[in-house]
Amino acid sequence: MLRYTISRRTCGGVNPPNIIFPARQYRVLALESSCDDSCVALLEKTPSFSPTVIDHYRATLSLAQDGGIIPTAAQSFHNYTIGDLVQKMGETYNFNQHPPDLICVTRGPGMVGSLTASIQLAKGLAIAWDRPLVGVHHMLGHLLTPRLTELVKFPFLSLLCSGGHTMLVLSRDMGHHEVVVDTMDIAVGDSLDKCAREMGFYGNMLAKEMEKYVDENLPLEGIPPPIEIPLGLPMRGPRNARFPDTIQFSFASFLLRVQTAVKQHQRPLDEDCRRYMAFHIQNLVFDHVIDRVNVALKKHGTNEAMCDINDGKFTGVRDIVVSGGVAANKTLAAKLRSKLCFEQALGEKPTLHFPPLNLCTDNAIMIGLAGIETFETLRKMSDMTMLSRPKWPMGDLLEGYVNVPDNVYRRVMEGLGTCI
Ligand code: AMP
Ligand code: ZN
Repeated sequence: MLRYTISRRTCGGVNPPNIIFPARQYRVLALESSCDDSCVALLEKTPSFSPTVIDHYRATLSLAQDGGIIPTAAQSFHNYTIGDLVQKMGETYNFNQHPPDLICVTRGPGMVGSLTASIQLAKGLAIAWDRPLVGVHHMLGHLLTPRLTELVKFPFLSLLCSGGHTMLVLSRDMGHHEVVVDTMDIAVGDSLDKCAREMGFYGNMLAKEMEKYVDENLPLEGIPPPIEIPLGLPMRGPRNARFPDTIQFSFASFLLRVQTAVKQHQRPLDEDCRRYMAFHIQNLVFDHVIDRVNVALKKHGTNEAMCDINDGKFTGVRDIVVSGGVAANKTLAAKLRSKLCFEQALGEKPTLHFPPLNLCTDNAIMIGLAGIETFETLRKMSDMTMLSRPKWPMGDLLEGYVNVPDNVYRRVMEGLGTCI
């Protein structure tokens, strides 16, 4: 039998002070199970104001034993947990008498079996309660959620650094988001986790463990390197000397370096080796992130003095949001603050935002928020033929929806025809 614990978290949204709300508030149930977390959120929304989070339940698949995500194990986990979480939330918030007014669920991208576990449940609830359903783009959730706690205006940039994604995204408005830099292989968190495993760390979130270890075990100075490991940045060879047409991250090479170094060392790693490798690999990975973002800033910057090399795509950007689990790393945050070439590329320094971690790692709150925007602002919803979309490019964000009929819109926004 699978065992899991439910973690609950309640956090408030941001509403303008001293304003009397109109009477109608509607409730939104959101489900997320695209990767290794089963999450359920209940939100409350008053038209024209930011949503408030009523509650959030999470159950996380333990990856320590398997050493990574096995899709079939993740699917079974979500099938086992997601209904249970919704039932518990329903008992607490009386869904029997007051079913939520809008159902949102992650439609993609993600693993097909994991996504489908929540999609099927969401469809069942939407039919049973006669409520509209919105299939949400997981990345739209990541991009819009920091606006709950931060003052971020369009157009803005998001640097997503997590276990599943590493990308720099330009958000022009609610419906237009362009991935400017993506990873050509694995994500930054995945790479750090796997490197840490090779170095002998054990558990979940190994990159977090490695940060702690590095902070407490700086390498000894003035001694020769105890282990051979190449320390050059990826994509800095002669072939990439000037700006390539497509700028990409690449994190697989760090794992290969660690694996090769461990193999060639031919004896178990001692503490000197581990502290040397952990320190340098963590630094190198983050230096690569900074390096690629700086190339993007130069290529798409707005500084007129550099207009022979920039195309001005980032014109108007005043805010950069850094999110995802890896964004919790203090070394990365310090490097982003001190090493990004903002002035040189954009003419002035934008504000860097690091939203609260519980909002920028995978969660169902972000699915509810993006679902609300999809329904209210973009006026799109899903029908019962909706399928999971494991690969869903950001450029196709508005595909696969139907327009929200007026009567459905009014029923949610004004409560006409509902039991509330
Ligand atoms: P997410 O995919 O956004 O849920 O975040 C999970 C990823 O973030 C995993 O790869 C973690 O190891 C990584 N992570 C969490 N905390 C830290 C930290 N303090 N430093 C580096 N990576 C971290
Ligand atoms: Zn995610």
